[in-house]
Amino acid sequence: MLTTLKRIVQEMNQIPELDQALFRVASRVKQTMEVDSCSIYLADEEKQDFILKATDGLHPDAVEMVRIGFSEGLIGLVGQREEPLNIENAHKHPRFKHYPEVKEESYNAFLGTPIIHQRRVLGVITMQQQAMRRFSENEEAFLVTLAAQLALEVTNAEIRGALSNSSSVESMPIQKNVRGIPGSPGLAIGTGFSTDSSITLRNWVVKRASDPDLEIRLYRRGVELTRKHVDILSERLDLGIPDDVKSIFQLYHHLLDANSLGREVEAKIREGWDAASSLKMVVEDYAARFQNMEDPYMQERAIDIVDLSNRILINILYEEKGQQPSAREATQPSILVAEEVSASMLAEFPRQYLQGIISIRGSNNSHAAILARAMGVPAVMGCQNVSPALLNGKELLLDGYSGEVIVSPEATIRSEFVQLIDEEKILSKRIEADANLASETQDGCRIALYVNAGLSADIEATQFANADGIGLYRTEIPFMLRQRFPSEQEQVELYRQILMATPEQTITMRTLDVGGDKPLPYFPINEENPFLGWRGIRLTLDHPDIFLVQIRAMLRASIGLTNLQIMLPMISSVSEVDEARRLIEQAFDEICDEIKHTDRMLNKPKLGIMLEVPSVLYQLPQLAKQVDFFSVGSNDLTQYLLAVDRNNTRVAGLYNSYHPAVLSALYDIVKQSDANQVPVTVCGEIAGEPGGAILLVAMGYRKLSMNAHNLRKINWVIRNVSLHDSRMLLTKALTASAHEEVFSHINQYLEHRGLGGLVRAGS
Ligand code: PEP
Ligand code: MG
Repeated sequence: MLTTLKRIVQEMNQIPELDQALFRVASRVKQTMEVDSCSIYLADEEKQDFILKATDGLHPDAVEMVRIGFSEGLIGLVGQREEPLNIENAHKHPRFKHYPEVKEESYNAFLGTPIIHQRRVLGVITMQQQAMRRFSENEEAFLVTLAAQLALEVTNAEIRGALSNSSSVESMPIQKNVRGIPGSPGLAIGTGFSTDSSITLRNWVVKRASDPDLEIRLYRRGVELTRKHVDILSERLDLGIPDDVKSIFQLYHHLLDANSLGREVEAKIREGWDAASSLKMVVEDYAARFQNMEDPYMQERAIDIVDLSNRILINILYEEKGQQPSAREATQPSILVAEEVSASMLAEFPRQYLQGIISIRGSNNSHAAILARAMGVPAVMGCQNVSPALLNGKELLLDGYSGEVIVSPEATIRSEFVQLIDEEKILSKRIEADANLASETQDGCRIALYVNAGLSADIEATQFANADGIGLYRTEIPFMLRQRFPSEQEQVELYRQILMATPEQTITMRTLDVGGDKPLPYFPINEENPFLGWRGIRLTLDHPDIFLVQIRAMLRASIGLTNLQIMLPMISSVSEVDEARRLIEQAFDEICDEIKHTDRMLNKPKLGIMLEVPSVLYQLPQLAKQVDFFSVGSNDLTQYLLAVDRNNTRVAGLYNSYHPAVLSALYDIVKQSDANQVPVTVCGEIAGEPGGAILLVAMGYRKLSMNAHNLRKINWVIRNVSLHDSRMLLTKALTASAHEEVFSHINQYLEHRGLGGLVRAGS
């Protein structure tokens, strides 16, 4: 059954037009399941009915004609109940409604399954048979599985259809709203800019073309350019190139030389498709054939074919437009759109043009979102139902508070949006003006504000002037941007620069926290559950070589200074602290030994741990004896307490640091830390959010660490609230039943104090 299903889905993927694809599905289902009829209905939200889109078995004239209301007939019932309906005799069912146009009088058995994507009923697929019988469990399971696959295709086609229509009528673009997850607050307006790494065949929207000769020329030039690039690459790699890489290049050459691929692409072009679309159709067919082979080696080759073809695609576009899109070449206010926004992509983008970020994958606490917030660039994450290629070149309005993106906005919407951006600017000027005032609540409680640094060297330097120090320096980013582990001396230079910048303020450096969603390109880790795997301190304790080099570099960088503190990430048990402390002592003794004949002094740094794995909540008294300070990593604490991957778009709605359970854990930590007399900071994202900062202060936290961009905002918030009031808010939040209720209390509180403009668009 699995093979049949796979084959039907693959065939469907080969057909670019949804209507035709649905017809193919209907007839393949009818044939392979040996039923008398298979039909597909799609929902029309506006008219509140299902329309018959494809059938093999009902009267063909009924297609596009028959509409069944959401609360009518058996089709409506399947949609309403959101579950399969399997009946022996449809005519006897109380909800049966006769539609003469479909001519289904002779059919008795009926099996209907809803097509659902992200809780939305998109349509219904049915199988019918003359015989009076219940469909078997196997048949039911088959249809449910197929419906789940269909749902993805229908969603993609839905979005593609709407957006590609809007691009085809350039003079009259149609406004379209796309929903994602709020990634970084703020409003942005700009032209969608997708870099070449986002231009892939998978994202390519097929188009027809009127001049086949021109398209064939484009295709041939694309192949020629690719051949040259591949030649250059293989020459460059010729020395010491490993065998498996060599074989990939050999395969590339072979494919580029093969007449068959070119012949098939050119035949598609002659059928009326443009060069890129023809390539997509042929290559996806090839890739599917390779994927279906038994041999895993051959299955892997499907990836190579797609990779090579993506290169050809980029070269076709280069030939067509005369330019290759590259982030460096942005020349106007832009919104960067990519499948997955990376640190290097942001580093490459000209800052003066970067207005906003849209990441197709990821979630609110992916490191890309954290980076966007640190840069103060509005961002929307997890825009799953759209592709970078579709947003490329379109005017976009981005609301980082709500996660909404408006594509090709109408004039009135655009001018309202511009007005909101102006109001934001006024508000941020007011905040700016008070940036030098001490962060003290209205009833005189001083809160120390620290900066989270390390994500990008040039951003924070100008902004942490008003901070009390660096509460979290993420050391992994410089490791991620290199092609190999940085040497001890390279690390010394980097850390020394940071420690020297503000010698009188404490700088808390966290040891390497890679793994999870922070891979090192030169140290790949393949795990089924990377967030539960070899991450942070677990990896570095298994590699004392890496750990010791880093600790030695930190200590050497701090010679003659007294402001270094060392912090360990991902601690889940006391023994890890013991082991790390032993290595730190060893490094300390080594350096002392190395400088003993000089007049230089090495100060022993304080040692702290991140509280981000739930187990430590139950061992705080024991841990308090081992360390000098705690720092709460609320980002990971949320993910591990709620069992929600912080990076997974599908469950992004469940990830929330304002979940009352997370708030209770945070409250518990500060009470226990105070009781054990260990200073505690919060350095997760919640500390840099207006509502979060107020709740943390109310709980008793007196040190908050956040990205430099939020520092002034939080300073302003703290000066506009009182401990007394915030404690009342905390009581409401802790007794709420869900994070939505917490948000509504926070929003009321902020609006009441004239601080609402900090958490939504406008002043
Ligand atoms: C955290 O987990 O809250 C944290 C500050 O660390 P990171 O986001 O780097 O995992
Ligand atoms: Mg963390």
